[in-house]
Amino acid sequence: MRFVDLRRANRARQNEWPGNEKTDLAFRALEVAGEAGELSEAIKKFLRAERGIHGNTATKEDIADEIGDLIVALDLLADELGIELGHSAKTKFNATSAKYGLKTVIM
Ligand SMILES: [Mg+2]
Repeated sequence: MRFVDLRRANRARQNEWPGNEKTDLAFRALEVAGEAGELSEAIKKFLRAERGIHGNTATKEDIADEIGDLIVALDLLADELGIELGHSAKTKFNATSAKYGLKTVIM
């Protein structure tokens, strides 16, 4: 899947999502923070399972689900600001490679 496909689907789904017209930048930012928290929680529960610590556990599939949620939420936030997610990731990736003198870049 390409980021452009995600953007297109996100926009289409938000158009059919009841109440979407009441969302804004702050809502999208909180959504990203919430999904990042859910991902962290899934990883904590995954580690709990691995280490035999008593309590609720999570699987790698649960983590994958939350990574997906986070990417979707990041695209919605980026769209709110007119930022193209793929361009943003590529630009920052290449800047970090340049900063640390690494050859790997995204063309
Ligand atoms: Mg989630």
